[in-house]
Amino acid sequence: MKPHLTNALNTRRVKREKIMSRNPIKVLMANSASPQPKGEQCDCACAESTSAILPALNSGTFLGISNLYYQKITPEYEMAFNPNIGNGMMLINSSAKELLKAFSPPRPIKPADQSQIVNQMIGIGLLTAPNVDSEIQLHPTPNMLGAWLHLTDRCNLRCSYCYLPHAHQDISLKTGRAVLDAVFRSAVVNGFKQIKLKYAGGEPLLRFSLLQELHSYAQQLAEWHGLQLDGIVLSNGTLLTAEMITTLKKLDLRLMISLDGLGQHHDNLRPYQSGRGSFADVAAAIDLAILHGLPPNISVTVGGHNVEGLPDLLHWILARNLPYNLNFYRPNDLSALSGDLQLDERKMIRGMLAAFKVIEQKMPRQSFLAGLIDRADFSTPHTHTCGVGQNYLVFNSMGQAAKCQMHIQKPITDVHAEDPLAVIRADQTGISNLSVKEKEGCQTCEWKYWCAGGCPLTTYRATGRYDVKSPNCNIYKALYPEVLRLEGLRLLKYQNDPEVVSVFQPS
Ligand code: SF4
Ligand code: SF4
Repeated sequence: MKPHLTNALNTRRVKREKIMSRNPIKVLMANSASPQPKGEQCDCACAESTSAILPALNSGTFLGISNLYYQKITPEYEMAFNPNIGNGMMLINSSAKELLKAFSPPRPIKPADQSQIVNQMIGIGLLTAPNVDSEIQLHPTPNMLGAWLHLTDRCNLRCSYCYLPHAHQDISLKTGRAVLDAVFRSAVVNGFKQIKLKYAGGEPLLRFSLLQELHSYAQQLAEWHGLQLDGIVLSNGTLLTAEMITTLKKLDLRLMISLDGLGQHHDNLRPYQSGRGSFADVAAAIDLAILHGLPPNISVTVGGHNVEGLPDLLHWILARNLPYNLNFYRPNDLSALSGDLQLDERKMIRGMLAAFKVIEQKMPRQSFLAGLIDRADFSTPHTHTCGVGQNYLVFNSMGQAAKCQMHIQKPITDVHAEDPLAVIRADQTGISNLSVKEKEGCQTCEWKYWCAGGCPLTTYRATGRYDVKSPNCNIYKALYPEVLRLEGLRLLKYQNDPEVVSVFQPS
């Protein structure tokens, strides 16, 4: 190396060491055992989780600073993550950033570097070998098979964005049991360890006694096959009673209730068949469920009509300490004429940011990374937006299976198939749930492993293609940095709570 370069590097090193001695390195990360919201994380098919395979690095290996993304949270702290693997976020102080800079240009690991912090940075891909500082493979680790059971097409509400025709169709006990047999067959054949059943409709509480019989049967099947079982009821809440809550708890079933705003904001979108608003009944049902020890997950569909009411709704939800997820309205054949529901970019961004302010003022201990912006999930890297075509089955009331609940009228197979999931996986028609790496406009995006390019159905409806980025991309990109900022503030707020935050500091 030329003498003037050596001198410059030495000067930088001395400056860096001064900064680091004045201000000890501090790195904050969400504790992996940190409290997660209880309840369902998504109203769709949850994406398959993936694991990044990181290279083993030995002393002497060259480390290069990765193509890191930094975001300022406070004057002293920045979030840092590696968009090539999306494997975790660290909140680093200025001295920790100096440590990262010490590996640029790449240099060998020195024995003095083998600190817990350097290992941690290697572990989540903030530091890596220059020759592997490109795309790292994410390997799907499918543990959970999700299945949607459509107990009835009937509903006592007439929501503006519903995709169902509300035909008078109910599932029978015989068909319901055949559906469960088929789900468990596919789970066993394909090596899944866990089954998640979503009892839906229509309004599933209209078939409450059948729901009980079916879930008891599912519990028997789970025991026979040695599989874990998770069950959730997706309800509008209006028919909920204290007796039902007691039964749901006995059956170990969770509850998700849809609520789109306070008062008129909800009533405009989710009226009864008579036209009367349902907010008062839904709010009472949620409080009843809390009172009887079954706090529900709140599913909010956000669109142009209700986004302005979102901050008030968030106040209401956070005051009750309930888990929630915010899903963007998805156009469909039966609601497409409802222009009010369309996503006006500026209005959506403004409303969502105002809602984030409410979260900031009442920062929860529990992580919100999985349910804050539509189908994005910042809690784990993933290549596919949802499990459609991979680990998800949707059964209608006649025992026919479709890829997605929004395509329930377009079944591909049925309960008679030996392995319905294999038929769904092999199907080349209908929804094509591509990897984010195959979506035009997404490949170089820093958010790709958390966003995965959005709902394929929404994209297809807007563009006629599955292999392009979401029509909501501009909204997502305006909001994602704010999610990071909120997460950074959460880590700072709870840094003295070891259940929530792991703090790495050299002793
Ligand atoms: S849809 Fe937009 S934000 Fe999402 S991965 Fe694609 S380019 Fe990135
Ligand atoms: S295709 Fe869209 S609507 Fe269907 S499960 Fe996936 S994200 Fe949800």
